Amino acid sequence: MTFLLQARRASTPVNVGGVLLGGGAPIVVQSMTNTDTADIEATVKQVAELARAGSELVRITVDRDEAAKAVPRIHEKLLKRGITVPLVGDFHYIGHTLLTDNPDCAKALAKYRINPGNVGFKAKKDKQFGAIIEQAMTYQKPVRIGVNWGSLDQDLLTHLMDLNAKLAQPKPARGVMHEAIVQSALLSAQLAEGMGLGADRIVISAKVSAVQDLIAVYALLAARCTYALHLGLTEAGMGSKGIVASTAGMGILLQQGIGDTIRVSLTPEPGGDRTTEVKVAQEILQTMGLRAFMPIVAACPGCGRTTSTVFQELARDVQFMIRDRMPEWKQNYPGVEGLTFAVMGCIVNGPGESKHADIGISLPGTGEQPAAPVFIDGKKAMTLRGANIAADFKDIVEGYIEKRFGAGRAAARPDEVLPGS
Ligand code: SF4
Repeated sequence: MTFLLQARRASTPVNVGGVLLGGGAPIVVQSMTNTDTADIEATVKQVAELARAGSELVRITVDRDEAAKAVPRIHEKLLKRGITVPLVGDFHYIGHTLLTDNPDCAKALAKYRINPGNVGFKAKKDKQFGAIIEQAMTYQKPVRIGVNWGSLDQDLLTHLMDLNAKLAQPKPARGVMHEAIVQSALLSAQLAEGMGLGADRIVISAKVSAVQDLIAVYALLAARCTYALHLGLTEAGMGSKGIVASTAGMGILLQQGIGDTIRVSLTPEPGGDRTTEVKVAQEILQTMGLRAFMPIVAACPGCGRTTSTVFQELARDVQFMIRDRMPEWKQNYPGVEGLTFAVMGCIVNGPGESKHADIGISLPGTGEQPAAPVFIDGKKAMTLRGANIAADFKDIVEGYIEKRFGAGRAAARPDEVLPGS
């Protein structure tokens, strides 16, 4: 399906602690903790979980002196555990002071996020913004200039609204707000470049919480600059609403080649799993054919022909198995992430879909023989029967992966998906 994608927008590559954003590099998945950064143990644990789930950058809040002092210790503890994911510091209001007063924090972070709407007011604004840029230049770190419409520069918005009101045919207020968001980001980036920070150290984001606004704002940004772009719908919400809104907005932009790194800003359930946002981000990129992170399972929805819950249970078990086994598979079987599995409920579409997958199984539907044909590389390979179909199928998957991607693997097939592709 990749032939449908427009070419990726040409952006200036930015190196964030060894992870490249833009310049044609694979689109990077990032996430953010929700722990108090001053709570070192809790933050280390969550960063480790996010990194293990596949987050390639992790952002942490740096909101006060205790948090800034905790950052180098968090970094050290992660390295001791072998976790090298670059940490991004999220600063608001007093970032200039925190970075200046805490050089070890400034060094430990791989990137600083600055919100131009929250960096200071009136005369102090440029001075405090400039102080953060100076720290970035001193420690050779990139910055993300992250505008958020919830904290948009009100002076700039008022100025543009006043200019608009004087036009013979004023634009709708929403269009003026889009313009203010874009200008806030680009004017700040120009200010940073004017101070000497290279374009290869600047990432831009302009987050809004409505899908149509997101598409309009990023289309403007992409047309007016070549800075690497961080894509995300802010305050996306909880559960399926947040997932659908993020996917709808980012999917359209990614399809147009816009976006060098993505974050899915989901609100977790109380006590919920923070890593869901990483899984969703990976699934957006993988289902669009932009990257491969782990084997994909195609499963039919089931219907009146589905005889029992065996089919749903098998589809779920295979999905869990992939998540569970992926860290080891990734180490031992490069290329495994490009596999496709099919778990189907009956003979109507089962064999056909299974033949399109690397490994597929078609469970028996109503009135069918109690047998489950398994297809490997497009051909029927065996038939499973009895109470152990799920366990047997998982063994077949393990055996196939070892044979195809293990030490004694045959030469790579022409359709092999390579890691990081
Ligand atoms: S493959 Fe069979 S069980 Fe699955 S949705 Fe289609 S008809 Fe229903």
